[in-house]
Order: sequence, then C-alpha cells, then structure tokens
Amino acid sequence: MSLDNRPHYSGGCQCGAVRFHVEGALGGASVCHCRMCQKAFGNFYAPLVSVHRDAKLVWTRGEPKKFRSSNFAFRGFCADCGTPLTYEAPDGVALAIAAFDEPEEIAPTVQWGLEGKLPYVDHVHELPGYATEDDPDAADFVNDIVSYQHPDHDTEQWPLGESS
Ligand SMILES: [Zn+2]
Ligand SMILES: [Zn+2]
Repeated sequence: MSLDNRPHYSGGCQCGAVRFHVEGALGGASVCHCRMCQKAFGNFYAPLVSVHRDAKLVWTRGEPKKFRSSNFAFRGFCADCGTPLTYEAPDGVALAIAAFDEPEEIAPTVQWGLEGKLPYVDHVHELPGYATEDDPDAADFVNDIVSYQHPDHDTEQWPLGESS
C-alpha cells in the first residue's frame, strides 16, 4: 500500500533492464492454456493479471520490446533477457504474474484457452518433488552459484557492479 492507501505493486524482468510499478487495483488473475500463450511464455500456460482501468502502470526502468502476435494483440518482453512481461490487447494490458516482486499475492482465479491445455499439466503436482538443496549431487554447484538476477525489489542502480 502507498501513502494514499492505494495498492502498489512492483516487478520486472529477470535481468532488471525493465521494471514496472502498478498504482491501484489489479484486475482478474488467470492462467491461459492457449497455444499462443504457451509460445509467448515458452511454458505450459501463461499466468497473467490484468491492470484495472483505474490503475496506473508505469515503466520505471526501460520498456518491454513488443511482438505483434495477432491483429489484436502484442506480447511485451525484455529485449535483453527475454522475460515475458505483458499481453496487450485493445481492451487493456495484462502483466505476467511471476514477474511481480511478490507474485504470491496474485492468485489466479480462472483458466482460459482450455482447448490448448497440455495433457500432463493437471498431474504436475503429483510428480515426485525435491527442494534444490535436497539434491546432494548438485550441492557443490548450488553453493558456488552467483546470481545475476535482479532482486525482488526496486534498486537505485542496476547492475550493482557497474558503478563500483
Ligand atoms: Zn531483462
Ligand atoms: Zn492465451
């Protein structure tokens, strides 16, 4: 929440070249299984949340590059790292849920594009699962990882190394 009690959200791409703020309420949150969303996200489905008409979307660092995926829609993504960021249609803009700094706040409430749903999607939660640190073969690798991913909050400057 901001000082005027309007909800406030931030987010951006993996590399940090593109960052956004949303001031005001978000609209509906969904996943879309359609084949175009699968391609645009390189994923089983696209998790998207619409920006409410009364809310304000501001690109605070950089801006997405856009691919016109149909005569109606554009898909916005970071030109530097490829993170999918937007679905933009005549009736408004939707943002990729996991691009938000706190995606756990934005739970989808509906599925679209069921005709494209991949047959194994409903069974992912039944697969055996492990935390990253539970894999002993990867332990050394995990300990040595240095992340270049932008953190889940706004930064004055990024990347950090360039100014120091
Ligand atoms: Zn990026
Ligand atoms: Zn779709």
